[in-house]
Amino acid sequence: MEEIIQFVYIASAVLFILSLKWMSEVKTSRWGNWAGSAGMALAIVATLLKPEIHGYLWIAIGIVLGASIGTPMAVLMPMTAVPQRTALSHAFGALAAGIVGSTEYFLKADSFSLPQLVVLSIEVLLGFLTFTGSLLAFAKLQEILPTRPILYPGRNYVSLTVFSSCLLLIAYMVAKGGFHPFLFISLIGFSLLFGILLVLPIGGADMPTVISILNAYAGLSSSFMGFLLNNKLLIIAGALDGSSGLILSIQMCKAMNRSFTNVLFGGMGQVLEVVDPSRDGKVVKSLSPREASILFEAAKKVIVVPGYGMAAAQAQHVVKELTDVLESKNIEVKFAIHPVAGRMPGHMNVLLAEADVPYDKLVEMEEINPLFPETDIVLVVGANDITNPAAKKNPGSPLYGMPILDVEKAKQILFIKRSMSTGFAGIDNDLFYSPKTIMLFGDAKKVLNELVVSLNSQ
Ligand code: NAP
Repeated sequence: MEEIIQFVYIASAVLFILSLKWMSEVKTSRWGNWAGSAGMALAIVATLLKPEIHGYLWIAIGIVLGASIGTPMAVLMPMTAVPQRTALSHAFGALAAGIVGSTEYFLKADSFSLPQLVVLSIEVLLGFLTFTGSLLAFAKLQEILPTRPILYPGRNYVSLTVFSSCLLLIAYMVAKGGFHPFLFISLIGFSLLFGILLVLPIGGADMPTVISILNAYAGLSSSFMGFLLNNKLLIIAGALDGSSGLILSIQMCKAMNRSFTNVLFGGMGQVLEVVDPSRDGKVVKSLSPREASILFEAAKKVIVVPGYGMAAAQAQHVVKELTDVLESKNIEVKFAIHPVAGRMPGHMNVLLAEADVPYDKLVEMEEINPLFPETDIVLVVGANDITNPAAKKNPGSPLYGMPILDVEKAKQILFIKRSMSTGFAGIDNDLFYSPKTIMLFGDAKKVLNELVVSLNSQ
């Protein structure tokens, strides 16, 4: 039986690797999803066949409980809430790793070798800090907690003290060997606390990087658990999860011009003072969609900047309709894709692909930025932070340093959004008050529909 289990584990590992490979391209991403799910199903079945399992009752209860939480989460949560859902999945996965590690310690602490104790301690540290860190990320993404960085005086010293306490506890327990229940429970407590301190000072705009680093921590914790339980598949799956999370974090940091070390140790937000520009005395111009449609008569080049609001309004299909109408009037249309537009990496690409917008019309930030000065109209559809010039001009802003789309350089800017509300980072956007800007207030789908109707009747 053991040979069969190991063989199935190898098949699962291959499917996991293929899954990652296929998911890196839109064309093959569905295959990637299937391969990952099939690999996981095989891994579960093979594990259930292990001879050391004596009864299935508690396992069945766990499966029913997990499925009754996971299924509604997958079915009911909208696509715009995927980052929150991912944060919750990390929290549950990491909690499982932490609990398994703790159980192993309480059952077998006396018999562990020094390397096993080191591995177990790191697993517990990573598992529990990822649990609370991910819950906090969930609360921020769901806007249960403020999305701004939550800062307090001396926070770096507090974080450093808590993290050092974890390391000292681990060093003592490993050096002494044997069973130290009180110290072990203290390690759990400090790890839980450190997870909270890690995510607390991080603002909404930096959440994508945090989610991917928590992903990496959860993966590493599972991999360590694999060493502890002598389960090769868990080592491989955890390492794949950990390393892909790490690579994604590094890429996100590059895209958002953030220091990777700061993200790794929760240091983001430390130099930031949130200073909102006041709206007093600033003038906002707005037009109805019908009035705005006239502006397109003289336009030759249009860039559409999609953001979270397009996803929230499910306006991607009418964006495509608008593109077709404009092109029928010999107006060139391109789409500017910011790496963190929306609420998950590749969010805009997926939505626009769903609406059959040709891939060659989607232009990444570095290539589209030089094109803004020669653009007649930029149509910003439910985007905000990714266009905010404060990222370049205001060192006190939580967005400072993040590369943005140079929308301000276009000849005319039209913003479609429902109100003067802020974006995810929770800060005002000076661009709304620019003499070049006209606001088209309303739900993105409704406004775009009216624009299409007006343009068609011209
Ligand atoms: P954003 O800054 O959050 O702004 C979205 C805007 O859309 C809001 O100002 C909102 O204004 C408007 N909106 C919402 N619903 C709308 C609707 N139905 N119709 C029309 N407008 C609507 O979005 P973004 O510019 O795409 O920037 C993304 C932000 O999310 C960044 O701060 C990024 O760091 C963060 N983030 C990204 C990811 C990722 O991986 N992509 C993950 C997590 C967080 P009104 O309320 O006035 O309508």
